[in-house]
Amino acid sequence: MLDHIVSPIPTPDYDWQAADAAHHLHPFSDHKSLHQGRVRIITGGEGVYLTDDAGHRILDGMAGLWCVAVGYGRQELVDAATRQMQTLPFYNTFFKTATRPVIALADRLTAMAPGDLNHAFFASSGSEAVDTALRMARTYWITRGKPGKRIILGREYGYHGSTTLGAAAGGMVDMHRQGAVLPDFAHVMPPYWYGYGGQMSPEEFGLYAAKQIEDKIREIGAKSIAAFIGEPIQGAGGVIIPPETYWPEVQRICRENDILLIADEVITGFGRTGRMFGSETFGIAPDIMTLAKAITSGYIPLSAVLVGDRVADVLINETGEFYHGFTYSGHPVACAVALANLDILESEGLAARAEAKGARLRGKLAEALGDMPIVGEIRGVGLIGAIELTADRRTRRFFERRGRVGTICRDHCFANDLVMRAVRDTMVFSPPLTITDDEMDEMVARAARAIAATQADVRSEIM
Ligand code: PMP
Repeated sequence: MLDHIVSPIPTPDYDWQAADAAHHLHPFSDHKSLHQGRVRIITGGEGVYLTDDAGHRILDGMAGLWCVAVGYGRQELVDAATRQMQTLPFYNTFFKTATRPVIALADRLTAMAPGDLNHAFFASSGSEAVDTALRMARTYWITRGKPGKRIILGREYGYHGSTTLGAAAGGMVDMHRQGAVLPDFAHVMPPYWYGYGGQMSPEEFGLYAAKQIEDKIREIGAKSIAAFIGEPIQGAGGVIIPPETYWPEVQRICRENDILLIADEVITGFGRTGRMFGSETFGIAPDIMTLAKAITSGYIPLSAVLVGDRVADVLINETGEFYHGFTYSGHPVACAVALANLDILESEGLAARAEAKGARLRGKLAEALGDMPIVGEIRGVGLIGAIELTADRRTRRFFERRGRVGTICRDHCFANDLVMRAVRDTMVFSPPLTITDDEMDEMVARAARAIAATQADVRSEIM
């Protein structure tokens, strides 16, 4: 029996597909349709490539789920985890205790972070970090004698995780419909110029989208609003990159209305946008920042909430006990891996190199895809980007039944051994920051084949 559990392949005829279908509930999946086909079983990873059990070598254009910044197979991270597991595999940070890795990481992260984000709280997932940030924001106002400031302002197509608070703060209506609607959350339009900009220039539209926040605050009343939460770039919502005019204006509006600004950097943290943090790229000075994913390059779960002096002073000096924390807050193995991961990010200059690499990648994509009628826009910042599939590139018209063409394209990507994700009909990418020029060229070639095949499939619907 034990053999069966510990052996990687229990018996030669063990049916992985049947066992998966019978017993494994996947996240964000329609199980019925999932198990009508085969599940791709990933068995290994090296650099930017994955291998599966059918022998495919797949170029991972998504860095896992936006997280594997330093690529797969980094021995430094394995060694850091092994050493820490041998020394002390676990101890908590409750009850007047700490471990060295968590202290070192708090020190290092707050030194790296912009502005006065001088305090770090740890959890295991982005969702938990967001949940923590929202409770901190509300606790801050309660402590300051303004318990009426409870409402969290988020954005349509925002994604802040799958805990109930995170899903309520996010703007994914399908999640709201499945039990994640809570009181005291409100949403405004995203700065999605391609989708909503109409005849406005991106700069005009950035101001317009920010103005929607101001209007919402007027409608609700600033005295009821605790915080605005936003991803510097909305990742899961389709890599929505705000025009340059947007964030400075959002910052001003939050300041003038005494509303805390939470930057959810779960995707944009650690070099993705060409600076260490997306807040630096977009000139945001958040009161609270949430981090996860590339903090360990996904090798082990870890997230962090960085808190600025204004909020931390109140929480530390006035709140008393903050009744919140997780068994794995500051897990020593995860923190040790994070420290080794930051060593790699810094010594290889991956954040700084992401900008030039991203520009090269977008240039190559434009060369290969730019003339295809189905391609409406290619956009990106650093090594995160998107390709809009369109029925009419002149008017930026979407296809009927949104999501259908994106799914076709994603399947063609898979058939070409490339992972790109479809968000509605927007193809998004976020490869490991370690990707080389040759690998980028390979990625572009595979993407071009997949998009050309998609275009052929839906030719009759394209202007
Ligand atoms: N915030 C953002 C911006 C995210 O992109 C995600 C995950 N994609 C989360 C929060 C939630 O993180 P997790 O899945 O680790 O809970």
